[in-house]
Amino acid sequence: MARVTLDTLRKEFDRGTIVAVDDLDLEIDDGEFVTVVGPSGCGKTTTLRMVAGLEEPTSGTVHFDDEDVTDIHAKERPVAMVFQNYALYPHKTVRENMAFGLKMSTEMTTEERHERVREMAEMMGIEDLLDDKPDELSGGQKQRVALGRAIAREPEVFLFDEPLSNLDAKLRTEMRAEIQKLQKEFGVTAMYVTHDQEEAMTMGDRLAILNDGELQQVGEPTEVYQNPVNEFVAGFIGSPSMNFVDVDVETDGAGATIRNEEAGLDLDLSAEYVRGHDLRNGRYTLGIRPENIVLDESPSGDENLRSTVEVVEPIGSDNYVHLTVTEDFLARSPADVKPEAGDEVGVSFAEEHIHLFDPETGEDV
Ligand code: ADP
Ligand code: MG
Repeated sequence: MARVTLDTLRKEFDRGTIVAVDDLDLEIDDGEFVTVVGPSGCGKTTTLRMVAGLEEPTSGTVHFDDEDVTDIHAKERPVAMVFQNYALYPHKTVRENMAFGLKMSTEMTTEERHERVREMAEMMGIEDLLDDKPDELSGGQKQRVALGRAIAREPEVFLFDEPLSNLDAKLRTEMRAEIQKLQKEFGVTAMYVTHDQEEAMTMGDRLAILNDGELQQVGEPTEVYQNPVNEFVAGFIGSPSMNFVDVDVETDGAGATIRNEEAGLDLDLSAEYVRGHDLRNGRYTLGIRPENIVLDESPSGDENLRSTVEVVEPIGSDNYVHLTVTEDFLARSPADVKPEAGDEVGVSFAEEHIHLFDPETGEDV
């Protein structure tokens, strides 16, 4: 198996007018599962294609272990790729589809190939489908065939490009677990691309967040969730999204106050908090996650602000409570805290849960 290292990897299109991937540095350990996540157009597919050898970098290198593979042809790289649209040959049977990759890349006898295909089909639970054609299969079955075909090649690096996007929600959850199980079982290094932050949170050993071709942050999912380095990551990771409010910060010897007059927001920060952060007087963007907001149905005067309830959405265990603080401000409250539309509620959050972002750079201070 292989460690994958991307070193200042860059891809420009249209004579440099489009920078799809902007000097990306990323290392994926041997056997590690790294999810690359970001909005549509941020450069995920281009990155993956450069690792596969399907796209030539403008500059930078790709290493598998200590070997520079940047100039090595896709066919010679020990990678297998799984796509959203399955990429199965429509006129071939499942058996032929699965055997095809083996014919291309290994020196197996026909018998050995058949045996391998049967083994993989059994593992993927599709042994009854071996004589079917792809258009006779459901989306989930096609994806299993595509996965089985990829694994059959015994790749050192497994590349996934939004493989579950065409499946319904229930099947997606099932396949998510299955892909992780396979990857760990085979100990293969995996790079998994998705625009879905939930997939990224649940699947990777680590996630790498891309925006506009640039790497924003790499880390374990909970680390990124708790300590996003900037406003983009804070807003992108986590569902429902973090709330943001513009605030004025005023420091004094003993601490600081955070205010937004329009929203009626008033929050005192401890001296300890101020010492731990690079705070000056001025404008910031405050971020607070919906689950870190405490609502009081009979405001006491101790809250950080008061707000009117717009809509309440019960989601079973909890309620989503939409507030008028900003256009799109959401609190997540336990089932027994269920105000009604039009109610005035107290809104509080502890200082250890707030994030303050520099409005110029977006960076967490
Ligand atoms: P993602 O997979 O994250 O949606 P892509 O890697 O497909 O993003 O694309 C990144 C950027 O590069 C986009 O702006 C896209 O339009 C552009 N791009 C991708 N492939 C090409 C190409 N062959 N020619 C020109 N521009 C491209
Ligand atoms: Mg893509």
